[in-house]
Amino acid sequence: MVQAKVEAEQKLFINGEWRKAKEYTPLYSPYSREEISKIPMASLQETEDAIEAAVQAQAAMRKLTAYERSEILYNLVNLLKQNYDRAAEIIALEAAKPIGTAKAEVDRTIQTYKFAAQEAGQLFGETIPLDAAPGGQNRLGYTKLEPLGVIGAITPFNFPMNLVAHKVGPAIATGNTIVLKPASQTPLSSFFLAELLHEAGMPAGALNVITGSGRVVGDHIVTHEKVKMITFTGSPEVGKQIRERAGLKRVTLELGSNSAVIVDKDTEIDRVIGRCVQGAFSFQGQVCISLQRVYVHENIYDAFVEKFIQETNKLTIGDPLDEKTDVSALISKGDVDRALAWINEAKEQGATVVTGGKAEGNILLPTVIVNASSQLKVSCQEVFAPIVVINPVSSVEQAVEEVNDSRFGLQAGIYTRDIQKAMWVSDRLEVGGVMINDIPTFRVDNMPYGGVKESGTGREGIKYAVREMAETKLVVVNNNY
Ligand code: NAP
Repeated sequence: MVQAKVEAEQKLFINGEWRKAKEYTPLYSPYSREEISKIPMASLQETEDAIEAAVQAQAAMRKLTAYERSEILYNLVNLLKQNYDRAAEIIALEAAKPIGTAKAEVDRTIQTYKFAAQEAGQLFGETIPLDAAPGGQNRLGYTKLEPLGVIGAITPFNFPMNLVAHKVGPAIATGNTIVLKPASQTPLSSFFLAELLHEAGMPAGALNVITGSGRVVGDHIVTHEKVKMITFTGSPEVGKQIRERAGLKRVTLELGSNSAVIVDKDTEIDRVIGRCVQGAFSFQGQVCISLQRVYVHENIYDAFVEKFIQETNKLTIGDPLDEKTDVSALISKGDVDRALAWINEAKEQGATVVTGGKAEGNILLPTVIVNASSQLKVSCQEVFAPIVVINPVSSVEQAVEEVNDSRFGLQAGIYTRDIQKAMWVSDRLEVGGVMINDIPTFRVDNMPYGGVKESGTGREGIKYAVREMAETKLVVVNNNY
């Protein structure tokens, strides 16, 4: 088992310097409940200082060539590789993410910054055929992509390193400056990033990390006139508030989901069951594209459920820092209580819990529910816990209706051997991404990623985020002059 060491007290990172805050709050391990460190609760003045530092750093950032921005990102990649184990330990410690899954997050973070380093050199504009319009003759028109200015990045607890990378990476590639407000439960990954980026050659003030309450610090960033864009990943409730409070700023929202997979009658159960169980319970189901709803053709339903339970019961429950652990604690006691209440509601309304359904400390045992109606919270809300609902369907058409019967629309999957059926389904699913012959829980870091409906607006995946973080400027040269 690894032993992560963390400074007893953290500092804010403003204008390239570590600054002691006026107020602190303890950070506890979600698993052991032991105090990990003390975290600054930034005041409005400290938040203001961070924003002002980012404003002042715009000039230095704009001076950097694409090559230089790319070099900073490649330096960061190398530093992450050198500090690989420490990075994984920090994630495991603050988020109770099983260490194997935390290492996978570090691998992806490295990849994300590599894509960002490459993208810095790909900020293409285009030439515009102005003479296609009457009055446009003898004019050369071209566009270029320019940085927006200060970007406010607000991030969730569940991927404290890689989801930060999806904001910081493209912001640097585009030449913006950043004020980063990480989730209160997982600030250590962001402080660690600030340390590495400073060493990687980032100009002072170009990245500022400011911790504290979302309602105070987050809201100040969202409403500040000098912040030009908010890139937010988190819950739909907070996302909606941000959209209302951000005024005319550009806003990208990566929100929640109750993702589903359709399992058609010709599916070989043994080939998909392990992947489905992994999609449902990886990081305790606290993944925005966790598999929450499974619609299985009635011909193979009983066999599917039986194997799903068998496979679920093989998972190892325990300490996140233990290499053998598959499932550990939920992020908070409140989330354990909420999940148990939703399970109880399901039982009271006639659903059956076939495995799990109870908690050991802050660990909710992986839970499989059958016969659950679509109105139950475990079906129609985002559970964000190790709970999966498996229901039979008589056809793929019915399954599509069930999947679409949701406020959310992030990703969905279908297993079938019939390619025409798969294409038919992909046209009809109301989601941002369709996975054919896979669960919805698939993401690599260069693909366009984002949702429809209440799952959000805008796309991440470095190339796509870069476009959102840049302003298109048109230049017209009048050769008639
Ligand atoms: P959350 O409670 O919405 O918090 C996200 C961030 O917003 C935190 O930094 C939080 O700060 C901050 N915040 C809270 N209230 C705010 C306000 N009024 N103004 C500005 N910022 C505010 O989400 P979470 O529980 O950390 O993360 C889980 C959610 O994220 C799930 O719904 C999940 O689906 C979603 N998610 C989506 C994606 C995606 O790409 N679509 C990926 C991962 C996660 P505090 O921590 O200080 O409250």
